[in-house]
Amino acid sequence: SKQSSPKKVLMLPWLAQGHITPFLELAKKLSTKNFHISICSTPINLTSMQHRITETQSLSIKLVPLHLPQLPELPPHHHTTNGLPPHLLPTLKDAFDSASAEFSKIVQTLSPDLVIYDFLQPWAPTIALEYKIPAVEFLITGAAVVLSFFSLLAKPDVELPFPELQLMLQSFLKAHPKMATAEDGRGDMISILECLKKSCKMILVNTFKELEGKYLDCLPIFIEKKIVPVGPLVQEIDDENKDSEIMQWLNTKDELSTVFVSFGSENFLSKEEREELAHGLELSGINFIWVVRFPMGEGPKVEESVPVEFLDRIGERGLIVEDWAPQAQILAHSSTGGFVSHCGWNSTLESLKFGVPIITMPLKYDQPINGKVVEAVGVGVEVKRDVNGRLNRENIAQVIRKVVKDESGVEVRTKAREFREIIRMNGEKDIDGHIEELVQLCNEGKWFENC
Ligand code: UDP
Repeated sequence: SKQSSPKKVLMLPWLAQGHITPFLELAKKLSTKNFHISICSTPINLTSMQHRITETQSLSIKLVPLHLPQLPELPPHHHTTNGLPPHLLPTLKDAFDSASAEFSKIVQTLSPDLVIYDFLQPWAPTIALEYKIPAVEFLITGAAVVLSFFSLLAKPDVELPFPELQLMLQSFLKAHPKMATAEDGRGDMISILECLKKSCKMILVNTFKELEGKYLDCLPIFIEKKIVPVGPLVQEIDDENKDSEIMQWLNTKDELSTVFVSFGSENFLSKEEREELAHGLELSGINFIWVVRFPMGEGPKVEESVPVEFLDRIGERGLIVEDWAPQAQILAHSSTGGFVSHCGWNSTLESLKFGVPIITMPLKYDQPINGKVVEAVGVGVEVKRDVNGRLNRENIAQVIRKVVKDESGVEVRTKAREFREIIRMNGEKDIDGHIEELVQLCNEGKWFENC
């Protein structure tokens, strides 16, 4: 029979690396299943996507620029969270929200069959609704996090059967008090939830059942939507960096001998944390690659950001990389035997995909919960902080040694390798099973009028 014409999907990720990557990977998967995808983002983010799309993929994945107003507070054209000083995040969010009118025009012009949007722009499905286009929310976080927030917002009286989530939720609320009080303070989250209830029929989550099955199973208690685990959607490795200085350095190291140390695209350590970490790495005796970064235009020189003579003492055992490293390539390298990570969800999935056990050092947002998930499935060990939230160098060194080398870490290392195999075996299975439903959604078009 004749193949039907491709369905047109318009995607709108939030302006962060950790959101753009899973959206792009989802686009790539859909592009092989008779979907034509337009990804809408700011020019700086599209540029970073451009070179991650092959020529073949570019036939069915189009990049559509969204222009934000130039604001004096924001670095010119730097409309991305990558490297943005944290205090400017709300400004970027406001600028993004004000681009909703332009997004509306794009929707009108492209007339897609489906809009796939991110949780940070609740206005996107509202616009889709105006044009009678079905919308699907794609949650780029883990299911444990989604469950925590939905339980908090939708049914705060129902106790979650997972002590690890209760605990983390409490500390999250302490750190983000604005979300803690009912009625007024939760405004932003409530509007996200309300819009989800109204205008979206299916939720895609970047996770998989072997990792978060028990949380996924629990989600229907809190949200009556079709939940589809489409993960792990992890960035592909290109050969571009194969001969870089970092890779050559890694080539000289023994198998599984080295830790990769990185805290994502928009998180920065305090001076004190950096200092403890430097000493911890030194004390551990393990090789390391450490990505040291600062908000755009704010950092000291790298040599000045680590303890005096640290670099001399470390010598060939450590490599400090300024600002950005090809993380997936490094995790995939056979010399890498551990990942000191903030447990951003993409970093977590990348580590599992490449079978690298995690030394968890969460900083904020969903990271503490992700850290608990990682520990609960046995692929990571947490670097505990003291009652004042301080890191301790001996402790850091001890956890690194355990995870990478010591006898006491055998199980963690084995478990991480098991996950690599699970992910390898699963391949495309998870998303394939749901393509038909997505096509149906595209065809339905008007179902939401009754919601
Ligand atoms: N990343 C990278 N090099 C770096 C830092 C980050 O390639 O030096 C990538 C990393 O591989 C991941 C993403 O940026 O895909 C960060 O996403 P994650 O969810 O882990 O953390 P976030 O930046 O959102 O806190």
